[in-house]
Amino acid sequence: MSFLRADLAQLAAYQSPHPSAQSEAAPPVLDPLDTNESPIDLPAAIKATLASQYQEAIAANRYPDGSQLALKQAVIAYAARSGKVPPETLSVENVTLGNGSDELIRSVLMATCLGGHGSILVAEPTFSMYAILANTLGITVRSVTRRDSFEVDIAAAQSAIEQAATTSLPVRAVFMVHPNSPTGNALTQRELTWLKQLPDSILAVVDEAYFEFSGHTTLAEALSRPNWIVLRTFSKAFRLAAHRVGYGIAHPTVIAALEKLRLPYNLPSFSQAAAQTALAHSEELLSQIPPVLAERRQMLQALADHPYLQVWPSAGNFVYVRLSDRGLLALAVTEQAAGLAKLFKLLRSQGTLIRHTGGGLRISIGTAAENQRTLANLQQVLGLNIATQKVAS
Ligand SMILES: *Cc1c(COP(=O)(O)O)cnc(C)c1O
Repeated sequence: MSFLRADLAQLAAYQSPHPSAQSEAAPPVLDPLDTNESPIDLPAAIKATLASQYQEAIAANRYPDGSQLALKQAVIAYAARSGKVPPETLSVENVTLGNGSDELIRSVLMATCLGGHGSILVAEPTFSMYAILANTLGITVRSVTRRDSFEVDIAAAQSAIEQAATTSLPVRAVFMVHPNSPTGNALTQRELTWLKQLPDSILAVVDEAYFEFSGHTTLAEALSRPNWIVLRTFSKAFRLAAHRVGYGIAHPTVIAALEKLRLPYNLPSFSQAAAQTALAHSEELLSQIPPVLAERRQMLQALADHPYLQVWPSAGNFVYVRLSDRGLLALAVTEQAAGLAKLFKLLRSQGTLIRHTGGGLRISIGTAAENQRTLANLQQVLGLNIATQKVAS
């Protein structure tokens, strides 16, 4: 159909298996450890508060508050408190809200690169959404690799930027996750120093989706530099993935541009109320972080002890593993990718759903029971006669 952009034929719609839509081949219950959400729902009392807000304060027939002022004020208060910056350094001009931080990523792409204005730079493996969204907008993605510890190859990144500067599509934005997904490493001093020396013609986008788990933030940079934006989300530590709320903090000029690009009513009234309620109960909700970190420690220890696996430290609520040489041998494969695909399927057949991405397996930290099942299932499928196990293809 000639009215469609030809490049869209090359793309596929984003698919993320939802627990309510599991395939027939899957066992009846899958532990959903593939999307890094919190494994625990909102406390019933908070849900009840929200329900009464819906009954009493939200008019379903009316459009949401398009200014989003109340939520913006609550967000900056939380950002200042958690980022240890004086509250007076942050105003509502420094914040924009998105329908998930995914929307903000798209707005950043539109604000910096759309219409042949430029390209973005990422370091693989990283969050897949940057490239996916860039592709839907016809925006060129330049990518560099990471070193053994998953630190960005800075020399390669620098030369990619210099090379791009000689083309019609110079780099306009560098996307970094802090800590990175799927690999779990936080930005190092070296990486931060490099980001800080980027010229004013390039926006540093620091995605802090896992801030509450890592404790690392670059908020102060976003407030002191014109070319830096911090992205955060309510989908992970705040247990609000169902409500789709994210926020960006940056210089007012950057925020003003993003505000022009967002849909007027991008955040439903109920989602605004949910995020405000979550912030009002932030202490209670975030009290679940230390147990998650304790579970992560145990999980990492158990995985590190396994001779078939290779595992790295993580500053997020997930861990990243690959197969060791012995693991490849045990799975009767020669290629890492083939081994990971096999292990992924074996685990799924046991009821553990994880993410095969970025040249490894990313396993979300779930409840204690889920994590124990993950380890038991790994033990089971990586048993000695693993090579003879049937893998449904
Ligand atoms: C989960 C995640 C997000 C959050 O996306 P939402 O659209 O807010 O749910 C953003 N960035 C990264 C790196 C993530 O892992």
